Formats: sequence, structure tokens, C-alpha cells
Amino acid sequence: MTPVTDRFFERVDKAGPISLRRGAKGNCWIWTGAGDGHGYGRFWDGSKQVIAHRWAYQHHYGAIPSGLVLDHLCRRTACVRPDHLEAVTQAENVRRGLAGLFNARKTHCRAGHAYDEANTRRRNGRRDCRACARIAAARYRAQKETQAA
Ligand SMILES: [Zn+2]
Ligand SMILES: [Zn+2]
Repeated sequence: MTPVTDRFFERVDKAGPISLRRGAKGNCWIWTGAGDGHGYGRFWDGSKQVIAHRWAYQHHYGAIPSGLVLDHLCRRTACVRPDHLEAVTQAENVRRGLAGLFNARKTHCRAGHAYDEANTRRRNGRRDCRACARIAAARYRAQKETQAA
């Protein structure tokens, strides 16, 4: 019977794309076997069905400390590279996920102005475009003048 480690790595493409974030070095190891439908790999370890990246982490580092979940530093759920994985609390995992979504969300406003330092005003955790605010203010003034005339 093929050793479980061999069966695992037969399903891994170690020449995957580079990490989506700078925190993780090198390229991702992409799981090419079956998935669980949520972007995570599934693997039969000989006695039970396991999540591929969890198996890879435990194979490399040992047991995941109780109460902790694995965070993909590279932001690729299909990645099983051990040094792209970090055991963190569930709260930290959620916080990182939300931060990732926020940062990745937009680099420009709907009108196409860049959300850079000079043009971005932060209010209640969301970003406002200063250029759009100026345009809206000018439009408002023009409207007032038209009404007054
Ligand atoms: Zn990765
Ligand atoms: Zn704008």
C-alpha cells in the first residue's frame, strides 16, 4: 500500500502561483485532489476524511493546538504549504479575513478616483472619496445658484 504521505503529495502541485500576500514566502502548494466545496481540499488519511491543509500542517508541525484554527497566510484556501499556514484563534482568523476583504476590495471609488492617502477620508470605518465629495459640493452649489436666479 502506498504510504499516506506519498498519496498526499501526489495530489499537490508544488509549483503553484506565488502567495497573494507578502507575509508568506514563495509559491503556493495547490491541492489538486477532491475539494469540500468551500475551497478546501479533502483527503482520506487511511482512517478518516480530513481537510487537506490541516493534514499538511499536522504532518509538518504536529498537532494543531486545541482551540486554534489554521489561517492561510497566502490567502489561498487550496494551498497546503505548511509555512503558508499559521495556527491562530478563531477571532483572529475572522479579523484577518475581514481585513483582507477590506483591503482587497477596492483601490478606486465608483467614479474611478484612486483611494490613496490624499484622496481618502476615513469615516466610521469606511472610506470616502474626497474628489467625489468636492464634485458633489460643487454640483450642490450650482443647483442653489440656479434656483436663486
Ligand atoms: Zn500558499
Ligand atoms: Zn471619487
